[in-house]
Amino acid sequence: MPQAQSPAVVNPLDNPFESMMYRFDEASKCIELNEAIYNLLKNPVKQIIVSLPISLDDGSIKTFEGYRIIHSNVLGPSKGGIRYDINVSLDEVKALAAWMTWKCAIVDIPYGGAKGGIKCNPKNMSANEIERLTRAYTLAMMDIFGPNKDIPAPDMGTGPREMAWLMDEYAKAHGSTEYAVVTGKPILLGGCLGRVEATGRGVMIATLAALDQLKMNSYNTTIAIQGFGNVGSHAAHLLMERGGKIVAISDISGAYYNPQGIDIPAAMQYVKNNHGSLDNFAQAEKITAEALFSLPVDVLIPAATENVITKHNANKIQAKLIVEGANGPTSASADKIIHEKGILVVPDILANAGGVIVSYFEWIQNKVGYSWTLERIKRRSDRMLKDAFAMVYKTAQQKKVSMRIAAYILAIEKVAKTYQYRGKF
Ligand code: NAD
Repeated sequence: MPQAQSPAVVNPLDNPFESMMYRFDEASKCIELNEAIYNLLKNPVKQIIVSLPISLDDGSIKTFEGYRIIHSNVLGPSKGGIRYDINVSLDEVKALAAWMTWKCAIVDIPYGGAKGGIKCNPKNMSANEIERLTRAYTLAMMDIFGPNKDIPAPDMGTGPREMAWLMDEYAKAHGSTEYAVVTGKPILLGGCLGRVEATGRGVMIATLAALDQLKMNSYNTTIAIQGFGNVGSHAAHLLMERGGKIVAISDISGAYYNPQGIDIPAAMQYVKNNHGSLDNFAQAEKITAEALFSLPVDVLIPAATENVITKHNANKIQAKLIVEGANGPTSASADKIIHEKGILVVPDILANAGGVIVSYFEWIQNKVGYSWTLERIKRRSDRMLKDAFAMVYKTAQQKKVSMRIAAYILAIEKVAKTYQYRGKF
């Protein structure tokens, strides 16, 4: 029998859902949000928990727990990734689903917010086991997913491969192929050019826009990035191409620091050859995971997981700019400290919206059966992000609030107004 663990003592504001609610409350107060709408928006419209028994390669049967939360579908079909991680919890997925609602509203795409997850450790599973699990999850969510209802996408621990299995399982059940049911697919299966690097590209665009406001140039700007997966590695590469000096990177194996700058394409190749890990990366000195946050750099980009910047390490941050590639990397307990230190934060719901923008483009192309060029995709997504950045920055200045609260204000106002027009009561 597994050993019971005693619960760790955690600050409630370090719980992702509480952190999200704290900012939601603050923004709602700023705009004196109507109480009925407040109560409506604070609860997800649907919460699904499923049990997924699958056979493992050794012949045994194991049951996994899967979740899908639809936070809102008032702006359109709900949209959000699926996370495979051993630490996935209902509260985490609830927070991630709400962030999707705010994110889609800020960048002005006609989607509501959702998120899914399966509590599993994909690194310890074979491809066959992951395929069976993905198909079981899709089957369990057959009535939830749909090209005009709820459209999943990749998140941590999933990618084009899982999205292809999901699309195939959905097609089998419906007797016809429906590409638009999921985004982030392989290009051959209706995927979109530029989708893989889209979130990292958006992080790069947001970083450049913020540096501009700080009257700083990207050339020789020093950057530390936590997380070297899809978002972190592409953001690193694109920023390096624009003259940025990436001095530290990290992943689950540890953090690596080289004040002269790390050769990012070489690091990406290393990860590819090293089973997806930076372990033993020799071109930089190994430092502790925590030390990455207090390095003397201009820009800090958390691009791994939630609550890595808390009241315990916020004081040690030396960066002038934080660009949140990950969802929820800063706990609400750290907001005040960061604000008082004068650090500019580009919040997650703006900084990492490049992924959902290009997912939206994929969905449009699937619906009309026509492919856009990479140039068109980049041009349009860059424009949408720059416009959203400008709007959030302006609101922050006008209302004298952080960019995070400004982003929540804009998103909540839009969703609340839509509810009022639709009169869904
Ligand atoms: P990924 O699985 O490709 O990569 C995650 C990276 O983080 C890996 O390098 C992993 O080793 C590292 N990591 C995990 N836990 C860590 C820890 N405790 N310390 C240091 N490194 C750690 O995931 P991804 O798709 O790059 O997603 C990263 C973040 O960005 C998540 O918060 C995700 O929700 C968010 N996000 C992703 C997308 C997307 O399009 N992929 C879009 C928007 C937001």
